[in-house]
Amino acid sequence: MRLSDNGQKVFEARYAQKNENGEIIETFEQAVFRLSRTAASVEDEENKVWEEKFSSVIGDLLFIPSTPIWANIGKPDRPWQPGACFVLAVEDSLDSMYQTLKETAAVFKSGGGVGYNFSTIRPKGALVQSTKGKASGVVELIKLYDASSNMVMQGGVRRGASMGILNVDHPEIIDFIKAKMDGSLTNFNISVGITDAFMEALENGEEWPLVFNGDTYESVSAIELWQLISNAAHACGDPGIIFIDRLQQYNPVPGNPLDCTNPCGEQPLSPGESCLLGSINLAKMINPDGQANFDLLASTVGTAIRFLDNLIDAAQYPLPLIEESTKATRKVGLGLTGLHDALIMAGLAYDSAEGREFAGQLTQYIQQQAHETSRELAKEKGCFPAWEESIFYPDDTRRNAACITIAPTGSVTAMAGCEGYGMEPIFAVAYTKNTNVAGDFEVFSPLFLDECKKHGVTEEVLAEVARQGTCQNVSGIPEDVARIFKGAQDIDNTDHILMQAEVQKYVENAVSKTINLPSTATPEVIEECYLMAYRLGLKGITVFRDGCKKGTVTVGKDKK
Ligand code: ADP
Repeated sequence: MRLSDNGQKVFEARYAQKNENGEIIETFEQAVFRLSRTAASVEDEENKVWEEKFSSVIGDLLFIPSTPIWANIGKPDRPWQPGACFVLAVEDSLDSMYQTLKETAAVFKSGGGVGYNFSTIRPKGALVQSTKGKASGVVELIKLYDASSNMVMQGGVRRGASMGILNVDHPEIIDFIKAKMDGSLTNFNISVGITDAFMEALENGEEWPLVFNGDTYESVSAIELWQLISNAAHACGDPGIIFIDRLQQYNPVPGNPLDCTNPCGEQPLSPGESCLLGSINLAKMINPDGQANFDLLASTVGTAIRFLDNLIDAAQYPLPLIEESTKATRKVGLGLTGLHDALIMAGLAYDSAEGREFAGQLTQYIQQQAHETSRELAKEKGCFPAWEESIFYPDDTRRNAACITIAPTGSVTAMAGCEGYGMEPIFAVAYTKNTNVAGDFEVFSPLFLDECKKHGVTEEVLAEVARQGTCQNVSGIPEDVARIFKGAQDIDNTDHILMQAEVQKYVENAVSKTINLPSTATPEVIEECYLMAYRLGLKGITVFRDGCKKGTVTVGKDKK
């Protein structure tokens, strides 16, 4: 059980138990036991052996629980709150707006991120019956929530992150789309909830009515609205889009409305639900001959699902409503990190048909094993309480309404030392770092450096790679090396989307993925990306144009 130097730094800064003077009083090994002991504490006497299995997969970094689990679980001075993802309801009343804000503060304090679908809120300028005044609307409400995020520092390390969704037919949609263009709302990611009806209106070039409570406020051109979204995303990376009818189409408990996700978009949840996450480290699942170790993958997934499921019971919840909703469906989000590391080890290019096929095989296998484990757990411990209202009833017993989610894995990947975060490609194979203290120096991807050494690439060539920030089209880099060592910016946007579509097939929740674009990409390219995402059945899409004015505190890209 050892972390790299960098991994140790992440562990100490974010997860290790500290005393009242802020001094670290826990090793990585002790933290692994803390998590495993707590997760095994809900088992029957004869099942306490699981403690050892949990610590073995976590200690070897085969399975890495997400941040709130490390930061909270089993600590004497923290609430045992394992969830990273929450969704809360906001109703169209002042009471509800402030009630939800208070609930949000409780969630932030315990280390989670919150998503809201604000489509229930009456638009700016609408009449307020009690005062005969005008409503301040959705964007003002988001500003209030955004400001409040600055008040709560999670465990002293990070500000709370939120997701705000507004459906495309809401009368305030135009202001919402533009809301982040002036650099404000830095604690929020925003997404437009796109419906199938809107896509049809777009295709037919129709007018699109903006409606609230059955009243049509105005009609706008569907095409112009679509262009407005891509222009805003071009300028500042927001909004993303979420195909909300698809969330509902795959809703495991169809009676609970599903029209919202957590901050990074990977976890659709109904109001009140929370979900805990963990990732399989694919960099550890490839044999020296480049083949996947499916046996190790199967046993790790089985142990990981049991661990996450146990924590639903060991957890302390920020609010009774959240406990009730979370325990009703027992959703867990097992995902993966180091996908690109695994592809490189297998000698496959991220942007190739073979690479996608391999990624699909690994994800599909993880999903099959997770579902198998959830079925066995149901036999042993019972189905999730809402099972009879679920799509699994009556033949398919399940302990969990959903099992698979691909998270950004910002902090945990840094701790585990993988090069590719979640399912993302590596950021760049090399770059030159400018520091005031040590001057300029070159930082290389270790996997890339190893491969170059094997091929006898010279120091001069490596220096050129660092200068350019890419090994594509650098003379002296063998073609075979260039093929598999493409960074996020070397990969064409359509290949990013194809990979997302392949992996999404085997993920019943959703995936966190950024579609990188060069700074020269036009808003039309973004529209093409969106259409491709819709046609390929994605649940949502986020584009990021190099150099755009993204101002968001959340995770993933800004940690690379
Ligand atoms: P980690 O690697 O820290 O475990 P991820 O980068 O995978 O976490 O993020 C997973 C989810 O955790 C996010 O989608 C979000 O719901 C939550 N999260 C991440 N960062 C924050 C934050 N600053 N505040 C609140 N929640 C966060």
